[in-house]
Amino acid sequence: MTSLEQLKSMDRASVLHPFTQAKDYASGAADCFVVESGSGVRIKGADGTELIDAFGGLYCVNVGYGRLEIADAIAEQARKLAYYHSYAGHTTEALARLSARLIEMAPAGMSKVFYGLSGSDANETNAKLVWYYNNLRGQPRKKKIISRERGYHGCSVISGSMTGLSFYHQHMDLPLPIVRHAGVPHHYWGAQAGETEQQFSKRRADELEALILQEGPETVGAFIAEPVLGTGGLIPPPEGYWKQIQAVLNRYDVLLIADEVVCGFGRIGTPFGSDRYGMRPDLITAAKGLTSAYVPMSASIIGERIWNVVRDGAEQVGAFSHGYTYSGHPLGAAAANVCLDILERENLADNAERVGSHLREQFVRELASNEFVGEIRGVGMLAAIEFVADRATKRRFDPALKVGARLSAAARKRGLITRAMPHGDILGFAPPLVLTRADADQIVAITCEAVKEVTQQLKREKAA
Ligand SMILES: *Cc1c(COP(=O)(O)O)cnc(C)c1O
Repeated sequence: MTSLEQLKSMDRASVLHPFTQAKDYASGAADCFVVESGSGVRIKGADGTELIDAFGGLYCVNVGYGRLEIADAIAEQARKLAYYHSYAGHTTEALARLSARLIEMAPAGMSKVFYGLSGSDANETNAKLVWYYNNLRGQPRKKKIISRERGYHGCSVISGSMTGLSFYHQHMDLPLPIVRHAGVPHHYWGAQAGETEQQFSKRRADELEALILQEGPETVGAFIAEPVLGTGGLIPPPEGYWKQIQAVLNRYDVLLIADEVVCGFGRIGTPFGSDRYGMRPDLITAAKGLTSAYVPMSASIIGERIWNVVRDGAEQVGAFSHGYTYSGHPLGAAAANVCLDILERENLADNAERVGSHLREQFVRELASNEFVGEIRGVGMLAAIEFVADRATKRRFDPALKVGARLSAAARKRGLITRAMPHGDILGFAPPLVLTRADADQIVAITCEAVKEVTQQLKREKAA
C-alpha cells in the first residue's frame, strides 16, 4: 500500500501543477491536498477532511458531485462504444441528440455546434471561425478581436491573448497583436463621480466605438465577452450595458462571441447569460456546465449568420478543415445529455436564482457594515465580496498583504472552499447549483468567522 505521504511525494516529484508556485510545491513548502471523493456540494480529502466546495471545482460542477446517474451513462457508453471520431460525417446517437438539444436550448438564431474539450479550445475555434467567415465573404482584413480588460477566455495562445489579465501574459509572449482590450464594465471602480450605471454603460459603449473607429471597422472582426465577468472578479454588467454594446457592434458589422463558459446552463438563472441580458451572439462558447466537468467537453455554438457563409463557401473551399481527435467524444456527449436532464428535471436554474439571492442577502446582512467591505455583488449562483482598506476613498490594500488569499485561507481552515479572485481582494463564491438554503447559511457563517479573523489581524497590523 502506498501511504498518503508517499503519494504526496510522488506527486511533488513528478507533476507541474497549474497556478501553483512550482519551486515551493516541489520542495514541500506549499500544500498538497489529495482529493478522494465528492457528494453534492462537498468534497473529501484522502486525509478525511471534509470541505464545502463553494466554488464548484472551478465553477464547473453545476449539478454537484457524486451523481451516479452520470457515472452510469458514461460507463454504459464506454462499454458500448468508448470512442469514435466525428470526422467525415461520423456520429453517435448521444452526439446527435445532444446537438439538437443544444440548438433548442440556445438563444434564438443558433444553428450548429462544433465540439472541443475545453473552454480555451472552444475560444480558439471561435476565433478561427471569425477569420474563416471573413475570408469567405471577401473581407480578409476584418480579423482583429476585441476583448475586455479583466475578461477571462482561457489560456491557450489566442484565448490567453483575449484574456485581459496581465499575469496570464507575462513571460509567455502574450497577447498576440491581433487582439485589443476594451475597458472593464465595473461601475464600482470605473464610474466617474456621480455617474449612474446607465451613463457609465453608455461611456463604455462610446469607448468601444472609438476603439473600433481608431482601428478601422474593416479590420475588426469580433468582440468577445462574458455576459458576467467571471475570473476577472464576478462582475455583473452595469444597467443598460449590453444594449449599448450590442448597438455599437451592429453598427460596424462586428460579430459578438458570448463566452458562456461560466454563465451557460443555468448558473445565472437563465439557460444562457445572453438570455438574461438580451445579447444577440453570433458565436457562443460553452464548456464547464455542459458536462458539469464529469467528462471534458466544450462547444462552439454557431449562429445562422456565420453558418450561412460557411455552408455557401463549402463548394469553393472544400471540407471544413478544423477538428480535434476528440471532437464530439461519445463519453462527453453521454455525460452532457444526463447533465442537461438533471438541470431541467431539478429546475436548477431557478434554484440558482433563489438560493443565490439568499446567499447574497445574507452576506449583505452580515457583512455590509464591515469597515473593509467595499462591495457585495453577484447574480444567480455567483457572489463576490470585495475588500478595500478604506471604504470612503476606495483605497485598495497593499497587494503584499495578500488580504484576499488570507481570507480564503481562513475559510479553508474552517472547512469552506472559496476563491481569492486574482485581481484585487475579492472573495468569490460559485457553488454547485444544487446548493440549499441551509448550505448557503453555513457558507455565510464560516465566511463571517474568516472575515472576523482577518479583520482583527489587519487592525492589529494597522494595515489599513
Ligand atoms: C474557464 C473559462 C474558460 C477556459 O476554459 P478551460 O476549460 O479552462 O480551457 C474560458 N472562458 C471562461 C469564461 C471561463 O470561465
